[in-house]
Amino acid sequence: MDLDIDTVRVARTRADCVLRPGEAFLGGGTFLYSEPVPAGVTGLVDLTGLGWEPWSVDGSGLRVAGTCTLAELVSGPGALGGAAGATGAAAAGPYRGLGIVRECVSALSLSAKVARTATVGGNLALALPAGSMIGLFAALGARAVVWTGAGSREVAVSDLVTGPGVVALEPGEVLREVRVPAAAIGQRTVFRRASLTPTGRTAAMVTGRAGERAPRIVVTASVSAPHGLYARDHDMLDRWLDWIGSTVGWFEDTHGTADWRGAMTRRLAHEALDELGGAA
Ligand SMILES: Cc1cc2nc3c(=O)[nH]c(=O)nc-3n(C[C@H](O)[C@H](O)[C@H](O)COP(=O)(O)OP(=O)(O)OC[C@H]3O[C@@H](n4cnc5c(N)ncnc54)[C@H](O)[C@@H]3O)c2cc1C
Repeated sequence: MDLDIDTVRVARTRADCVLRPGEAFLGGGTFLYSEPVPAGVTGLVDLTGLGWEPWSVDGSGLRVAGTCTLAELVSGPGALGGAAGATGAAAAGPYRGLGIVRECVSALSLSAKVARTATVGGNLALALPAGSMIGLFAALGARAVVWTGAGSREVAVSDLVTGPGVVALEPGEVLREVRVPAAAIGQRTVFRRASLTPTGRTAAMVTGRAGERAPRIVVTASVSAPHGLYARDHDMLDRWLDWIGSTVGWFEDTHGTADWRGAMTRRLAHEALDELGGAA
């Protein structure tokens, strides 16, 4: 841990979120406090002091605050989604789409202690390929609400992450919350992942949802930014995966080679489409 910073301010109001020179936002700090301080950062603004309700659900859908911890996500929306592993055809009930919440959190190589501190907003803003909140909320068709100074804007979570560690957030913008539309919550969802070892970092992740038109398939972890397709059939899925391999390229790092990740993604994506096959 390298805490070579001068100040930590706890934000209590929106006005406190206006960054001063050298400041960066602090979520749970599980990444920021585990790495050398980013170049030029001399102060942190702790967003957890804003006191946002971690999550809520009503007729318009699910809202998850940027400061919602991963443990709160599991015990709240994850519990609404039903028993662990009850996804796809096994899922039932009005919140069955949230059945993948637990698995997406489990896909992170975090201890329970870290999960009690790490936030949804931090995971999205960090934008690691293995950031499983990206695949979760992209599959659920969620939109991120971003505070921009005095105003706000919305961006689809699938468009928020544009590369490894790269997000469509301007300096000083706060990831306020993600909103999952009500319709998506009631639709069947699916989750698949692969890693080099059982407890290793996620190297390929496929999430999906039985959408209105066709199943939505989202791939993350094996690509540098999320990619999604409404897959009408397996041939269409194969053509799309071929295109990712030849044009976008499969991601490669110590957690898996590009070729292996491409092969795993293909297998998982076909399994996911099979599981989502049939009426929504
Ligand atoms: C042992 C261990 C294992 C890990 N495994 C994984 C893994 O498998 N996959 C993975 O993706 N990560 C992993 N991480 C990294 C990290 O813990 C998670 O990504 C976590 O979700 C980050 O959330 P945080 O709230 O702690 O972020 P912080 O460390 O507080 O912040 C991370 C970044 O996000 C920014 N930020 C935070 N909140 C907001 C907000 N609301 N709006 C705008 N910017 C914001 C911060 O400025 C910073 O740049 C791991 C970390 C540890 C220590």
